[in-house]
Amino acid sequence: MEVIATIKEMQRHSEQLRQEGKIIAFVPTMGCLHEGHLALMREGKQRGNVMIISIFVNPTQFGPGEDYERYPRDMKRDLKLAQGAGVDIVFTPTAHEMYPNGFQTTVEVAEVTTNLCGISRPGHFKGVTTVVTKLFNIVKPHLTLFGQKDYQQLVTIKRMVEDLNMDIEVIGIPTVREHDGLAMSSRNAYLKPKKRKEAATLYRALRKGEELFRRGERNSAVILDTIRGIIEEEHSAAINYIKICDSHTLADIAEIKDEAIIALAVTIDKTRLIDNLILKEV
Ligand code: AMP
Repeated sequence: MEVIATIKEMQRHSEQLRQEGKIIAFVPTMGCLHEGHLALMREGKQRGNVMIISIFVNPTQFGPGEDYERYPRDMKRDLKLAQGAGVDIVFTPTAHEMYPNGFQTTVEVAEVTTNLCGISRPGHFKGVTTVVTKLFNIVKPHLTLFGQKDYQQLVTIKRMVEDLNMDIEVIGIPTVREHDGLAMSSRNAYLKPKKRKEAATLYRALRKGEELFRRGERNSAVILDTIRGIIEEEHSAAINYIKICDSHTLADIAEIKDEAIIALAVTIDKTRLIDNLILKEV
């Protein structure tokens, strides 16, 4: 496995791989790798000839007062895990390499970033789409894999790739969960054992919502009230949002018709957790 830190070298390498006819699969990450990340890499390895990941904690997608400084970083461990998942190349730029003095260009996707985390984290998606565009131009992938755990991010990247005619296939991968259902996340490391246990309530509540849907409930408010009630039983949980949205436009919907998504963001002990479930007729 190779580790490349400069943009020039990464671009040269990727260009060479393309000329050799290799299919490049790419997974961007912020490191602190877990099974969720590794699932994306394994799938990429299957679908492409060369699996490239990036490890870069992107400062522009964190708002003021968010956890950029304390975001967990462990490069040595990450490189070991990536190697175990069959990764061929790891791109590890510095913030200065990605954002040198004078940097002033951004990429912004409009509508699908306005709801959900777009409300509570202004500027977040602009940071994501800008860095992902840069990474695409550097790594030159044929296909890229993103987790459904960050559902709004996945929809936003798909929209951007389509709108800007980027010749890249975007593949969504189902959320990987802990044994108790908590969606794996680098931020779970912040949770102390007692709060970590409480965090499993989020998935339990989402599943209850899904059960109501399966039993025929189509009124969003009824499902949301039930989910909110379960989460509010945990006194340390502060709800940021719980919504049912159209799974393509991410606009709120009052009545579920075809496919919808229940999405939530809840802060437990200063740790902001997000999760979602897709509701669809089977
Ligand atoms: P991050 O390092 O948090 O930026 O995540 C990098 C990629 O891994 C994103 O596409 C995430 O959606 C994906 N990811 C993170 N957690 C999970 C999970 N539990 N299951 C599946 N994919 C995940």
